[in-house]
Amino acid sequence: MKQRLALLGSTGSIGRQTLDIVRRRPEEFEITTLTAGNQWEELARQALEFHPDSVVIANKQHYAPLCEALAKEPIKVYAGSEALEQVVGGGEVDTVVNALVGYAGMLPSLAAVKASKRLALANKESLVVAGEHIIREAAAHNVPILPIDSEHSAIFQCLAGESSAPRRVIITASGGPFLRTPAEELERVSVAQALAHPNWSMGAKITIDSSTLVNKGFEVIEARWLFGLRPEQIDVLVHPQSIVHSMVEFDDGAIKAQLGTPDMHLPIQYALRFPERGELGEERLDFAKCATLTFEKPDTERFPLLNTAYECLRRGGNSCCVMNGSNEVAVAAFLAGEIKYTDIARVIIGTLERAQFVAAPTIEEYAASNQESRAISSEIASRLRLK
Ligand code: NAD
Ligand code: MG
Repeated sequence: MKQRLALLGSTGSIGRQTLDIVRRRPEEFEITTLTAGNQWEELARQALEFHPDSVVIANKQHYAPLCEALAKEPIKVYAGSEALEQVVGGGEVDTVVNALVGYAGMLPSLAAVKASKRLALANKESLVVAGEHIIREAAAHNVPILPIDSEHSAIFQCLAGESSAPRRVIITASGGPFLRTPAEELERVSVAQALAHPNWSMGAKITIDSSTLVNKGFEVIEARWLFGLRPEQIDVLVHPQSIVHSMVEFDDGAIKAQLGTPDMHLPIQYALRFPERGELGEERLDFAKCATLTFEKPDTERFPLLNTAYECLRRGGNSCCVMNGSNEVAVAAFLAGEIKYTDIARVIIGTLERAQFVAAPTIEEYAASNQESRAISSEIASRLRLK
């Protein structure tokens, strides 16, 4: 029987690459749901190609044109973010692929595991915001969470077949476009410079997060929940070649790593076909052409937000949720040309100082905390706004 996928965020970078995998293996996969935030035309094109049962457009303004574009098809059309939570639980869905970006992915992840669906997870923000709840629900419903994030896929691949728990994991980071940029120049970097990632082609938000090391901080938090590790068991090393996707160290000193070219098709396919591998046809790693693999400690003076993420993880409660909401506002303000690159850290650190601490938040309290964090961050960002 085919594996039936609900693909959330199908018009994004991970969403489109997931459809590449489905396109190549029509005998294995079937799409039941496709969703997008705003890009209704692309969503309609995808629906005409993949014939899902339903589509969801999160922005209700695009509902009418989307309905019109699909009027001749037997496809149900829904609008609004609440619909995302409903479609993931549908009886015809086996696996939910969450390729949404930001806080918006959290409730659909939770709804998926509560409905006992396998969750192939790219949306790391789900675990940053509410990792404890999502992992608990997945365990209670006995459903796997299969990581798509390349570092976590690497760790997951290294752990396959091991019965011993890891002693430590080492998450690699490319270092982003500003790896060697002097601190005083960071104040002046442009949006275009920050969007020019050296090794990976990704959505705008994660590209900025990669350059500030917020992405790496979020990956530390993601690893904590996915693999049940303490913060001190998770290290980060800068590896500019992006060939070693992450490593696991065991008690006997053995270290396993997963290597490959930087291409998200591999972790996506691994998550969908686990525990099987399969032909991918992408470029293969040629060791002779990448003779030098280097590793160095991250510079937390120039990129303080990696440590901020560790601090939030140690403090627990709603701290990571506050950092996530604040980062979303700060990155959006930077991308809109409203604040300087280095203001992203000012917004986040300022917000964490002011937001109310909640020790054991409920899902409703996470929502309130996300709102509060965003409001404080918007206020700080507007004071920093470039004249
Ligand atoms: P993207 O911006 O390219 O795509 C995001 C998708 O989500 C789009 O389909 C968009 O329409 C939809 N969306 C955005 N906001 C929404 C909202 N409020 N409600 C409903 N839908 C919304 O992002 P991406 O680069 O594909 O990243 C997706 C997730 O995967 C992120 O959490 C990112 O951190 C993670 N990730 C991405 C990569 C990568 O290579 N792109 C690698 C590792 C992890
Ligand atoms: Mg990653």
